[in-house]
Amino acid sequence: MEKNLQIMKELDAVLTGHFLLSSGKHSNGYAQCAKLLMHPKKAEEVLNTVVEQVRDLKIDKVIGPAMGGIIVAYEIGRQLGVPAMFTERENDVMTLRRGFLVERGDRILITEDVITTGKSSLETIKALQVYDVEIVGLAAIVDRRGTTEFPYPVYSALKLSIDTYESENCPLCKENIPLVKPGSRKKF
Ligand SMILES: [Zn+2]
Repeated sequence: MEKNLQIMKELDAVLTGHFLLSSGKHSNGYAQCAKLLMHPKKAEEVLNTVVEQVRDLKIDKVIGPAMGGIIVAYEIGRQLGVPAMFTERENDVMTLRRGFLVERGDRILITEDVITTGKSSLETIKALQVYDVEIVGLAAIVDRRGTTEFPYPVYSALKLSIDTYESENCPLCKENIPLVKPGSRKKF
């Protein structure tokens, strides 16, 4: 976990500071897993720590929701030697498309880059349950659920606690720490 945090920080995949989120809220941290996944060797190393946690679960297939879950599913599937697929929204409903198939009884690992509430993973699980498969858990690079419960075991490379604040009562604003929009160099 400590090594993973170090790698993520070096790649700016995990930032600490004062951030303006797309929701309008402010936060004291930010995770952008694309900054890790753009380096295949580093992604392999970090995700191997997750693979080691799930190796004995007799996984048949790895499936993640688009976009965040796709590369994570691919890399974990590659290391486990099992097929990797993804679900995507069709008319706003999470679906298995592109001729992807699962078989009854398949033991499936769900993937995400960051799990916050796990909403899109739960939608993926719902899409898969009609096939009578077994969901063995969820694998993510970053687990930042805090106290949010998820109804399946969660395996991650890194646990992060990131606090979010309404802009009007943000303690970082009160300390006059410059506000940064993640992904841009612009300061506010
Ligand atoms: Zn603020």
